[in-house]
Amino acid sequence: MNQQQMLDFKLRLLERAHQLRDELQRTRAKSVEETPGQVAQRARDSEDDSFATLVVDTNLSEMERDAEELRLIDSALQRINAGTYGNCVSCDQPIPIARLKAEPTAERCVQCQELFEKTHVSVRTPSL
Ligand SMILES: [Zn+2]
Repeated sequence: MNQQQMLDFKLRLLERAHQLRDELQRTRAKSVEETPGQVAQRARDSEDDSFATLVVDTNLSEMERDAEELRLIDSALQRINAGTYGNCVSCDQPIPIARLKAEPTAERCVQCQELFEKTHVSVRTPSL
C-alpha cells in the first residue's frame, strides 16, 4: 500500500470515528432521557411489560456495538501511525486492499480471520 492509500484509509477511519462518537453521544443522551423507570412507566401505560427491557437493551447493545467499532478504529489508526496498517496482525502478510476497502478496520487476512473466529467465537456465543 502506498502513502496515498494509507492516507485515504486514515481519513475514512477518522470520519467513521467521528460519526460513531456522535451516535454514541445521542444514544447516551437518549438513555439518560429514558431511564428504565420512565420507560417502565410508559410501558405500563401501554400495557406492555417487555417494552421497557427491550428499549434499554436496544440502547445498550447499540452503544456496545458502536464502542466496539470505535475500539477497532482506534487500533487501526494506531497501526497507521506505526506504519503497520494493512499487514495482518497474525501472519504479518499484506491484507488485500479490496478487503480493507470493504472493512477498513480489518486486522487480519481472510485466512487468519477465519482461524481466529473459529478459535474465539465460543467466547461470545452463549451456551444453550
Ligand atoms: Zn494472516
